[in-house]
Amino acid sequence: MQLTFLGTGAGEGYPGLWCRCPHCTYARKTGGKNIRGNSCAVIDGQLMLDIGPMGFLNAARFQVDLTQAGMLLITHPHPDHLYPYHLHWRITDDDALSLPFGEQMHRFGPRFTNVPELHIYGNACVEKALSTQLDDFSRMKASFTRIREGETFTDNGYTVTPVRGNHHEPGFAHSYIIQKAGKTMMYALDSGIFDGDMLELVGRYQYDLIVMEGTTGLNEQYGGHMCLEANKKMAAFYREHDCLKPGCRILLSHMSPHWCPPHDWYETIVAQEGMELAYDGLTVEI
Ligand SMILES: [Zn+2]
Ligand SMILES: [Zn+2]
Repeated sequence: MQLTFLGTGAGEGYPGLWCRCPHCTYARKTGGKNIRGNSCAVIDGQLMLDIGPMGFLNAARFQVDLTQAGMLLITHPHPDHLYPYHLHWRITDDDALSLPFGEQMHRFGPRFTNVPELHIYGNACVEKALSTQLDDFSRMKASFTRIREGETFTDNGYTVTPVRGNHHEPGFAHSYIIQKAGKTMMYALDSGIFDGDMLELVGRYQYDLIVMEGTTGLNEQYGGHMCLEANKKMAAFYREHDCLKPGCRILLSHMSPHWCPPHDWYETIVAQEGMELAYDGLTVEI
């Protein structure tokens, strides 16, 4: 599997939209890896992880084509992870798809490309948010399936196991264990600290790659998120339970500018703890 990060920031992105603190000012001045869009990622160009407001813009910046994605796993319905309006642009006039572009462009659009049906997966809170904001999935060539913690499903060669998080309220956010061709990845954003029953589930797997939220960084643990100390404890849990295959990388994503220093220097602090700091556009192959 090949994972590409299309965003590694928290809700406000990085720099904070209305902030001139030293971190945000440094990020604006320096650019590069210090700039982060809302968290979003894609596996093999086929399986999208969240659909936040900035994911498609970053995909274009990093030359990633999302048009052929057939799966979308949504962690939770906070607006930095779920921006339903992006799905609206899948609507098209099917009769126009076979026409030459010169004729298509005078038809309705807004999509002039054939796409596979998009299988969207999310918990009950995601389902509620989608149903109130979008009325007709079939016109978007998409379908929705509700996931449940610990209930594994398979789609297009990917085997997925949802894990209940502790963000906002229990069950509001889910992390995903994703497996394909003998490889296993954990994608845990806005997970908070897993409850005992979920730790027991998570501890049963051996991972080739772990992505976890580093939202509150050098601050203390803060409502429904993980700080660096929590990341260290979780990394220790994985090691103690023999969950890390040789060469398994632990990457932090979903960074908030006010608790996580800019990439240029936070990267070193995280590396000292045996983990890595993800950045927008990073691709990892397992
Ligand atoms: Zn978030
Ligand atoms: Zn959230």
